This record gives sequence, structure tokens and C-alpha cells, in this order.
Amino acid sequence: MNQIRNQLIKFMTGRYGADKLGRFLTATAFVLLVAGLFIRNPWVDFIAAAVLLVSYYRMFSRNIRRRFEENQKFERVSFSIAETFRRWRFRLQQGSKFHIYKCPSCGQKIRVPRGKGKIKIHCPKCNTDFIKKS
Ligand SMILES: [Zn+2]
Repeated sequence: MNQIRNQLIKFMTGRYGADKLGRFLTATAFVLLVAGLFIRNPWVDFIAAAVLLVSYYRMFSRNIRRRFEENQKFERVSFSIAETFRRWRFRLQQGSKFHIYKCPSCGQKIRVPRGKGKIKIHCPKCNTDFIKKS
């Protein structure tokens, strides 16, 4: 048992191993494999196998710098997607309680509470006042 472990350690030395992108690819392959059980389209299985192959290729790769750069790129993209969703959700939550108006003279966005009838809005940036329905 110990010998197998040592051989595995020896085999993995100098190889890239798992990272965030690797885990994402493995999870994607797994989801596709499960989906393939229901969808029964050979393409789903094929794509799942291809994704799994790529994730293993990256794990055993010796080109560590290249794999690191791929992971960096992936992290950047996944961060911006998460950020977009976060902003989107924030706007949705705010949308029921607040109204966002743009100042007619400088374009500054101003958040006002909803349901207060006609109100005078004061722009904090250029000191313009304008009347809107909240
Ligand atoms: Zn203004």
C-alpha cells in the first residue's frame, strides 16, 4: 500500500495537479455524465468525456506555468460572472424599495424610496432640484 502511495507521489512530482479550473471541469464532466443518463444523447456523453480528458490532461501536465495562466484566466472570468450576478441581484432587491433617478443636469444616479408620492429630489453632486414621482 505504501509502495503504491510512493509511486503515486513520484508520478505526481513536477506535475500540475488540481486547481479551481480543474475542479470546475471535473464537476462539469460529472454533471454532464449524470445529465447523459436522462438525456440519452451520445453528444452529452462525448462532451462529458472530452471535458474529463481535458481536466486529467491539465492535472498531469508538466507545463505548470501555462496551466497556472489558464487557471488565472478562469478565475478572472468566473469572478466577473459572479460579480454581474451579484449586482443584478442587488438591483432586483433594491428595485422593490427604491427608485433610481438620473439627475437631469449632471446625470448622477440618485436613489429615492418608493411610494412617497411626488417628491422633490435634490442632487448632492450639482445641487439641482427636480420633482419626480417616487
Ligand atoms: Zn446633478
